[in-house]
Amino acid sequence: MMAPMHPRRPTRPIYVGDARTGVIQIGGGLPNGRGEATQPAPVVVQTMTAGYTHDIDRCVAEIHKLAAAGAEIVRVAVPERKDTDALREIIPQVRVPIVADVHFHFQRALEAVEAGVHKIRLNPGNISDREQVNAVIDACKDRGIPIRIGVNEGSIIERKDKQKRKEELGKFFEGRKNGHLLALMIAKLEEYLDIFAAKDFHDVAISAKSMDASFVFDVYTEISQRFHYPLHLGVTHAGTKETGCIRSVAALGALMATGVGDTIRISYASDPVYEVQDGLELLWSLGLRERKGVDLIACPTCGRIQVDLFTLVQDVRKVLQAEITVPMKVAVMGCIVNGPGEAEGADVAVFAGDRRGIIYVQGEKVANVPEPEILERLLAECRQFQARVLSGEVKLGEKKVDIIPPDPIGALGSGFEKIAAGNVEHAARGRAAELTVGRS
Ligand code: SF4
Repeated sequence: MMAPMHPRRPTRPIYVGDARTGVIQIGGGLPNGRGEATQPAPVVVQTMTAGYTHDIDRCVAEIHKLAAAGAEIVRVAVPERKDTDALREIIPQVRVPIVADVHFHFQRALEAVEAGVHKIRLNPGNISDREQVNAVIDACKDRGIPIRIGVNEGSIIERKDKQKRKEELGKFFEGRKNGHLLALMIAKLEEYLDIFAAKDFHDVAISAKSMDASFVFDVYTEISQRFHYPLHLGVTHAGTKETGCIRSVAALGALMATGVGDTIRISYASDPVYEVQDGLELLWSLGLRERKGVDLIACPTCGRIQVDLFTLVQDVRKVLQAEITVPMKVAVMGCIVNGPGEAEGADVAVFAGDRRGIIYVQGEKVANVPEPEILERLLAECRQFQARVLSGEVKLGEKKVDIIPPDPIGALGSGFEKIAAGNVEHAARGRAAELTVGRS
């Protein structure tokens, strides 16, 4: 695993789950509630179900699906009593900790705690009576259940008191918009945290989401310098997977690269499985979690392309995502310009030319096949390589040779004539002069 760019910001940890689901630590690095020293836990990936919680069988099926995709914590909405009632049947059937998402009705939080939920998400700003918030804190304290305090951009502007709303919005639009909003969010957060501190309740995580990626970066950076609680990162209402992905990765990636963030939820107007997949990929890309499954490298293609690489890559991805569990590096490259370099660094690789593919395993050429055979041969090599890794015969990342591209490589740089003929030279490391010419 590559080293993370920046040390993680230490926080007081919280613990989510029980003996049956397993307990997930979020944050760490400062002493916990028992005064024990802790280390920061790996950044946790969570998501939220898209269906109704009271539709019990569907909800359970969706939680299973999200857990199988890699979600470590799953949140469910509980707007009605029938939703918290459903939790009693859902929780025993699933194997990941469940968070109840509560808005407006403090009773839902109390019912969810009674039903055995593992964490509560609360926005104290939309629960008007402080005693109601106190009742939720007491219930969670009794059961050892943490609470996430979530202050979203959309929920902190006053909605009931018209005069207050007018004043807040007036400030919001004058001068630096984000400066005021940021100050407002921090002020609300401080106000809410005071309520929890007054109850000596510290099993708290914080979120302060917005749909504006640069604002998310600013507000979480500010919060990370003020409070020692774990941070739940997210860009809210990020839109479809296409735009939401860019917004989320821009904000969350930048924050985590500076060591800020202890759990993430990427949110899309789409199947939440994508949120989990993209969240994991983000953490893997930043070296914050150990990759599970294949690390697929592919070139973007250009005017030198010699095979239908887009189709090939998608087909390879679909199969390997389902079948490969070891973090092997697989490169699918369009031609000889960058193909040899990536093939050299990958465990299994193909680079193409003139409707053919040269396939390498740990830098050793194993095949030169026509385009219709590339997919099946590459998959077969990946499967075989995984079996050899699992049996201990080979190790990931080992490389037997340096690949020397043909010279000259052709006027267009494609080298396709040489590839078509199978004449791709490779030499053992340190023995570049002893070229081997292969044909298969
Ligand atoms: S590997 Fe070849 S085809 Fe792919 S982008 Fe690079 S030059 Fe173009």
